Amino acid sequence: MLRVGILGVQGDIEEHTLSILKVMKSNGLKGEVLQVKSNGELSSIDGLIIPGGESTNIGGLISSRGLLKPIRDRLYNGMPALGTCAGLIVLAKKCYDRVVGDKSQPTLGVMDVVVERNSYGRQKESFEADLDIPILGAEKFRGVFIRAPTIVDIGSNVKVLSRLNDSIVAVQEGNIIGTTFHPELVEDTRLHRYFLEIIEGNIPQSKPRFLP
Ligand code: GLN
Repeated sequence: MLRVGILGVQGDIEEHTLSILKVMKSNGLKGEVLQVKSNGELSSIDGLIIPGGESTNIGGLISSRGLLKPIRDRLYNGMPALGTCAGLIVLAKKCYDRVVGDKSQPTLGVMDVVVERNSYGRQKESFEADLDIPILGAEKFRGVFIRAPTIVDIGSNVKVLSRLNDSIVAVQEGNIIGTTFHPELVEDTRLHRYFLEIIEGNIPQSKPRFLP
C-alpha cells in the first residue's frame, strides 16, 4: 500500500491529490494520498509532493512548523519527492528572485540546482508550451508556466529531463524530481505516473546528493 504525502501548508494541494489518485486508479495501485502538515504524517509516507504556490509562504510555514529538518532528513535518506514550480524552489540549494535578488527565504536546499524565481516576469507573463520529456514518451507534454522560475545552474548529479528553448524546465537528482511548470494542472498524468514508479521501485541512489 503506497502512501503519497502532499505537503499541505499552501498551494495547489487538491490538484496534485487528484492527479495521484487518478494514476493509482488507472494502474490498479493500492494506496492513499495524505496531506503532510506535521512531523507525524511525514513519518508514514513513501514519497512527498511539494506543490506550486508561493515559495516564501511554503518555506516559511514548514520552517515555523519545525518541518525543515525532518523533511530534509527523509530526503537525504532517499525518500522520493516531486517539487513543482514553488515546490522546486523550496527544494533548490539556492534561489533568488529575478528582481529583488536573494531574500534568504527558508528552503530545504536538498537539490543541487540554482533557481531564479519569477524568471519570466509577473502573472501576466504566464504561458503554456508543448514540451519534449523523453522519459515520458514521444508525445508532447503540455507545460503550464505560472510566474515560473527557471533553472539557471545544475550540479553534476542532476539529469535534465526537459528543456524549453534554452532553459531547463524539468530535472531529476536521485529520487527527486523538480519542474518549473505545473503537471498537476493538466489532464495528462504521465509525470505523476513516473513519480509513482520511482516510489514503487524506490530506485537506489548514491547518497548524499548535496550536503549544505
Ligand atoms: N512565483 C512563485 C514563487 O516564487 C512560484 C509560482 C508557482 O508556484 N506557480 O514562489
